[in-house]
Amino acid sequence: MNQLVNLMPKIRIGQGVDVHAFTKGDHVVLGGVHIPHTQGLLAHSDGDVLIHALCDALLGALALGDIGHHFPDTDPTYRGVDSRVLLRHVMQLLAERGWSVVNADMTLLAQAPRVAAHIPQMLACLAEDMAVSLDQLSIKATTSERLGFVGREEGIVAQAVVLLAAHS
Ligand code: MG
Repeated sequence: MNQLVNLMPKIRIGQGVDVHAFTKGDHVVLGGVHIPHTQGLLAHSDGDVLIHALCDALLGALALGDIGHHFPDTDPTYRGVDSRVLLRHVMQLLAERGWSVVNADMTLLAQAPRVAAHIPQMLACLAEDMAVSLDQLSIKATTSERLGFVGREEGIVAQAVVLLAAHS
């Protein structure tokens, strides 16, 4: 085996992106937090676009496929499912393989609703489900300056990047 590989720290990086369209409704769920809004997000699950991007980043870091592979939207088990259940399941997959989260950095791209005030509660939910401390997680929010489908309030985008380290 290449000796350089042996000298490398046992770390993995992953990234995830998710998009959900708005539909009729009276709230959205982002980062596990129920936020009242004039529309809802169209989804088989609760439509938590932030947790979905995070799950894809975690799965991607270990080349374990994507959230659609693990939780197919053709499976009635996941209809309306709380995405925090999915996140805890993904964390279990990581732990079983001997990996821990070093940090996760996430961005929500939404013209509406305004989410900044809800970020502390989102961080608390995710830290609990991931069994990490608050200083390992970051959630940022931005609008798209009214450009594109986000700017027209047709949907929300989330992005996530994670770093994993092997258990020592
Ligand atoms: Mg999704």
